[in-house]
Amino acid sequence: MTTEPRLRIAMQKSGRLSEDTQKLLKRCGLKLNVSDRRLLAHVSNMPIDIMRVRSSDIPGLVMDGVCDLGIVGDNTLEEAALERQLMEQSHSYVKTTGLNFGGCRLSIAMPEEFNYQGIKSLDGLRFATTYPQLLNRFARNNGINVEFCLLKGSVEVAPRVGLSDGICDLVSTGATLEANGLKEVEVIFKSTASLIQNPAVLEPSKQKILDTLLPRIQGVMKAKESKYIMLHAPKDKLAQVSALMPGKETPTVLPLAGREDLVAVHVVATETFFWETMEELKSLGCDSILVMPIEKMMG
Ligand code: ATP
Repeated sequence: MTTEPRLRIAMQKSGRLSEDTQKLLKRCGLKLNVSDRRLLAHVSNMPIDIMRVRSSDIPGLVMDGVCDLGIVGDNTLEEAALERQLMEQSHSYVKTTGLNFGGCRLSIAMPEEFNYQGIKSLDGLRFATTYPQLLNRFARNNGINVEFCLLKGSVEVAPRVGLSDGICDLVSTGATLEANGLKEVEVIFKSTASLIQNPAVLEPSKQKILDTLLPRIQGVMKAKESKYIMLHAPKDKLAQVSALMPGKETPTVLPLAGREDLVAVHVVATETFFWETMEELKSLGCDSILVMPIEKMMG
């Protein structure tokens, strides 16, 4: 009996990326049940298996070919690639597509009272971090020497207990730093989640599955960034209203029953565009403005 090859994708089991990853896969139409304790979740309507692991294990699983693809933060990916290169282990991968979640930055933070006068003031200091390779690369590129102590969690507490002079850790809002009496002094790496794959050519049947999945992922991402906007516009201002609409698509213009002076205008735009342009639209006499989320966008 021959079994159909299944595409294996690694994702974070639990943590900051797991919910967004699951949501993405579900919105791509994958039926998967990850509520149980199984580490290998079967997608019931496509030949795909989801392997649920620690984030830090994902790069290695993809680079070693255990999984065909993985969804992981660029920070974890880059750290693993540098470490594996140093250890002379396989460290190549292909970034199939960037994803629009998991945004954060890896930053150096110092106690508030530290007199920061540029990168050179970090020379010779000791940092608590989960990312020694990225920190080392930053130090090398900037001509300074740093020491590090490796901590896998609660990095922010290290300076207060005398373990280090500063920290090098992930930041999104900066609230945790502030709560721990630290200030961000240098951003050393910017990160979002990415879909990565092993550099080897996929066997044709697996490539076919990826060729179905990838446009869906891109469609879901595009939809997340876009809004469907409907408004009523004065007919005699249509040219000015259309000129405010971005993108390659021309707006859809529809008549309104019983109104010779007004038309309905529909357009797909990013939310940022909308807030920036709303006041101008209003001043042209537009009203009944509706902004709606888009579930999916293909083509
Ligand atoms: P694991 O425990 O699964 O090995 P982890 O310790 O990195 O991984 P999380 O804290 O859940 O687990 O972080 C997962 C990823 O989420 C990070 O590697 C990073 O890419 C992203 N992320 C986004 N914002 C933040 C943030 N403010 N702090 C930490 N990680 C963040």
